[in-house]
Formats: sequence, structure tokens, C-alpha cells
Amino acid sequence: MIKAITGTKDILPDEIHKWLFFENLVREKMSFYNYQEIRTPIFEETTLFSRGIGEATDIVSKEMYTFNDRSEVSVTLKPEMTASVVRAFIEHSLGKKQALNKLFYISPMFRQERPQAGRLRQFHQVGVEAIGSTNPALDAEMIIIAYEILDQLGLKKLSIKINSLGIPESREKYKLILSDYLKKYYEQLSDDSKKRFTTNILRIFDSKDEKDIQIMKDAPLLIEQLDENSLSHFEQVRSILTNLRIPYEIEPRLVRGLDYYTHTTFEIVSGSIGSQSALCGGGRYDLLIEQLGGVPTPGVGFAAGIERILLACENEEVMDIQPNKIDIYIIRLEKELLPKVYELSNQLRIQQITTEIDYLDRSVKAQMREANRLGAKYVVIIGGDEFKNNNFILKNMSNSEEKLLNIAQLTDIKSFF
Ligand code: AMP
Repeated sequence: MIKAITGTKDILPDEIHKWLFFENLVREKMSFYNYQEIRTPIFEETTLFSRGIGEATDIVSKEMYTFNDRSEVSVTLKPEMTASVVRAFIEHSLGKKQALNKLFYISPMFRQERPQAGRLRQFHQVGVEAIGSTNPALDAEMIIIAYEILDQLGLKKLSIKINSLGIPESREKYKLILSDYLKKYYEQLSDDSKKRFTTNILRIFDSKDEKDIQIMKDAPLLIEQLDENSLSHFEQVRSILTNLRIPYEIEPRLVRGLDYYTHTTFEIVSGSIGSQSALCGGGRYDLLIEQLGGVPTPGVGFAAGIERILLACENEEVMDIQPNKIDIYIIRLEKELLPKVYELSNQLRIQQITTEIDYLDRSVKAQMREANRLGAKYVVIIGGDEFKNNNFILKNMSNSEEKLLNIAQLTDIKSFF
């Protein structure tokens, strides 16, 4: 039997209502904040990601689905979307059309990671990007939007961790300081971290190795090296969050996996989904657009993993929503009435009434069972003597009350509900 590829998942009809609910919540939130949706292709030229995300990152070095197409062009299924959004921003000169572009997306992403709970190879992200301003209010807005969505879902075990990576100059200076510190411990580092020591030293903070964690506990911190402007930017972000009573903690070891961040970085972590606990992450990327060949333009954004958010909702037993019930199930007493029943169901659907009929020539009893299974609010019974007199029965399934109505009244059936 052919099965879905490891790390990919079907989203089946009995869970889709949760996805739709979540996506609607996101779209509604985005419209209140005046963000417009952007959709980019599933695949891009590989260089977009290697240049945009950084060669030394885990994503680019280990996780991308990259292949040559039939014209021998190296293409990659998008592992994240900021690089794609920025590519589109540059390609379509969006910055010329308006000074500040506020964008969001909901899209599948692809990374060849080791699958486990909360870690898939095809997963879905909702992401937000504000391109065109260095204003710290927008850094704060990212955190606020992400938090509001999670909070509105009813999630409780959330913590917001924020940090500032400052400007590249401070980071370069800091890398030397960190490297000086780590030289003493080099031999004790895990193999992965030994590699990071030369390729991407900040990422040693992300190591899950116990010994590495011990060593990094006493490491000097980037935040101590920030210049005055960066500190003031960070202070402004914090004061907006504090004003709005958004609970956050400063996590000076939060470096995040992508190379393009400057200033604010943040993550929102859930205490209810195990080790893959980050629900969302983001930050400012003032240099990315220039790096990808655009006119220097600052930006800030975040991405959140939908599967992880839904898993957190399940584990915390929130988002208790039911699939939509149908309004009317039409039961026919005689099989031959199908064409008539079909015509009537059509009239009902035009009135925006969710209607189902029997396509399987079921017995009357079985049709009633099906109406119950579908949670129909009403049943319309067509057939017998009533139908000969142009009448039908409307039965309210919650109190079993029945009304005898004329077929002509079907065009205004809502008034008899
Ligand atoms: P990142 O783009 O790595 O910052 O990830 C942003 C968010 O996407 C994470 O916080 C997760 O919620 C989600 N995410 C990232 N990678 C995966 C994955 N392999 N499977 C499921 N969700 C993921």
C-alpha cells in the first residue's frame, strides 16, 4: 500500500474545522491590523534561500528539499517564507507602491528534519511581515499579534522570550569575545558545536547537548555588547509590551536559527507540547532586503507553526469547537421521489440553508439515522399522502415538533424554523 511520505500528514475532514477556525481567526486579526495576504510559489530558485537564510544555518545546510528540475535549475521547496516574501517585494517593487508593506501568509513549508511530535517535513506556517520601517512599534506589533492569536485560542502555558541581536558590528565584536571564551572549552564541546564554532558560533546557544548547555551558561552575552541605539530600540519595544501588559521575559541566549536577524528576536514557547516547544519565532531583518539585491529597506516579522499551535490547543483542551452541523436533511418516503427531492434541496441551498439528501436509496429509518448522525437541525419529510396534497412535514430535531407545510412555503422555510 502506498502511504504518505514520512513527516507529512493528511488533514482529514474530521479535523479540518479546527484548521478553518484557526485560519479565520488569523485572517480576522490581520484585517484589524491592516495586513494584506501574500501568496508566493511553493518552490523557488535554491540561491534565494541559501543567500537569504544563510549557508551555515541548519535549514540551508541540512534540511532543504532541493532538486534539479528538467532544465537543470536547482530549485527548493520553500523551507520558510520571509525570503520568498522579500523576493516578491523586490521583484514587484512593492516598496515603491507604498512606503510600508504590511503582509501576511498562510502556507505549507518543507524541511527534511527528523520527524517527531511537533516536527514535520511538510508543516504549515502563518507568518506576518512589515517591510519599510525601523519603528520599534512594529517589532512590538509582531509580538502582540502573535500573542493575541494564541491567547484568543485560550492557550495558557505561554511564555514570550525576547532578545536583541543589535547591529552586525556589535555582533562581530561579540563573536570574537565568545570565541575567546569558548576556546578554553573547545575540546569539551559536542561535535556539532565544534562545527558551529567555525561556521556559526552563536548557534552553540541552541545546542541541546547537556555539556554544551553547561558551558554556555557562563558565556559572555551579546546583549552586553549592544550599542546605544540598539539598546534604545530594545527599550522602546519593551516599553510598548509593558504598556499593553504583554508578559515577556528577556532571554539573552535566544539567537534563533536564521542569519538575517538584527535587533529584536523573539519566540513564544508553549509548556504543553513537549520538547519542540516553540510555537512561533521572529524578529527584525533590516539587512535582508539589501542582501537579496533590493534597495536597503528594513523589515520585521514572525512565523508560527500551525500544527504545533493545534497540538497545544488539543493538549490544553481549549478551542472546543464542533464541525458545522447541517440545517436540513430531506427524507423521502419513496425512492422514486429523488428528482423532486433534488430540486427541493437545490431551492434550499439557494436560500443558504445547508442541506443534505440521501443518494444511497436508504430505507426511511436509515435516512433518519443519517440525519441524526449529521446533527441535522431539521428534517423535511417528503412523500406519502402529504406530498400528494402538495404538503410536507418539517420536523425540529431538538424538540421533535412537527409542522405540516405547503411545498410553496419551502421558498421561505427559515420563517418556520
Ligand atoms: P522557524 O521558521 O524555524 O523560526 O519556525 C517558526 C515556527 O514554525 C516554529 O516556532 C514552529 O512552530 C514551526 N516549525 C518550524 N519547523 C517545523 C517543523 N519541522 N515541523 C512543524 N513545525 C515547525
